Amino acid sequence: MADAHALPLPPPGHTPHRVMTIAGSDSGGSAGLQADLRAFAMLGVHGCAAVTAVTVQNTLGVKKFHEIPVDIVAGQISAVASDIGIEAAKTGMLPSSEIIETIVATWRSEGLDTTVPLVVDPVCASNVGEPLLHPSALDAIRDDLIPLATLVTPNLDEVRLLVGIDVVDDDSQHDAARALHALGPRWALVKGGHLRASRTSCDLLFDGSQFHEFTATRVDTPHDHGAGDNLAAAITAALAHGYSVPEAVRFGKLWVTDCIRAAYPLGRGHGPVNGMARLTLA
Ligand code: PLP
Repeated sequence: MADAHALPLPPPGHTPHRVMTIAGSDSGGSAGLQADLRAFAMLGVHGCAAVTAVTVQNTLGVKKFHEIPVDIVAGQISAVASDIGIEAAKTGMLPSSEIIETIVATWRSEGLDTTVPLVVDPVCASNVGEPLLHPSALDAIRDDLIPLATLVTPNLDEVRLLVGIDVVDDDSQHDAARALHALGPRWALVKGGHLRASRTSCDLLFDGSQFHEFTATRVDTPHDHGAGDNLAAAITAALAHGYSVPEAVRFGKLWVTDCIRAAYPLGRGHGPVNGMARLTLA
């Protein structure tokens, strides 16, 4: 059984596992590719990045964002795939349907769709609700990207936007997992972290036949920016190490719970979960 607490580090001089985030930049350093690359480094994998958008943001919110041209998004993925190699990848902020269609086409043309585990975190909005994509991008995420995914990891707001189900209890969380799985990913993870009434945070994983539950004691903190990114990044790193999807999710849940427990205030708004938690909790 894979270690649920720590990923093995490569011996000095050996090439670590190579992973990619396809995501937006958060100038405040809490979420987006900054959080992903920090998690990758903490977990001993070599993180590559295809930047999709640059957000102008701090802890008070996202002021605006700039989309990266589609040929540059595709070029970043191809450049890394053709030289460094990609053993697992995750997607984060994908602002437009054009960018999503380009990523899907590149993923297929590079032959990555049959070989590389892909974690799709269907980021729709910032943690204070500002949209991070154009409305048409949601259809492209649902119809084009999610069917390519090994695992899709929506929070409850994203579940509502993707499959129109309001998760309020255990039954509706199961319904949502079924509906998400029917969109075509190999696994669907419905994150229960936003079910505020509950004293635990239960994430539900479904592969079309079996459900797995991952539960942690709820940590109440206003500083939760980057939680979704850290979870998906840790799962991606674990998949690169060869963990099965349930093992990788178990690992990611422990990881992100440590990050949330050690969250810190920053600026005048919502601070980040602490992606360096295992440096300080050890
Ligand atoms: N990616 C970017 C660039 C963001 O700005 C955000 C949120 O603001 C996210 C991803 C998602 O963040 P979280 O992990 O808090 O859901």
